[in-house]
Amino acid sequence: MVVLTNKTVRIRKSQRCWGCNFRYPIGTELQYCTGVDGGRFWSAYYCPVCQALYNEYDPYDDGISQGGIFNECRQTWLNMLNEQADKVANHS
Ligand SMILES: [Zn+2]
Repeated sequence: MVVLTNKTVRIRKSQRCWGCNFRYPIGTELQYCTGVDGGRFWSAYYCPVCQALYNEYDPYDDGISQGGIFNECRQTWLNMLNEQADKVANHS
């Protein structure tokens, strides 16, 4: 698998995160990735929680199914979301 793009973007229309399959509203910062896998172009958005869990879920880089991070790590995912919400709350 070849990764061509891996950058943080502020989305201009609502997008679904590939890892958890949740839809995020305009203005959310998501990680945007594109690449080529077996001759096929792919692109995906990842929310901060899925980015944080990515390495844990897919240590061998053999691909993630749609919604796979949330499905596999549901409790961890929800805990991470709470931690991130706490961070945001502490900053304001
Ligand atoms: Zn996600």
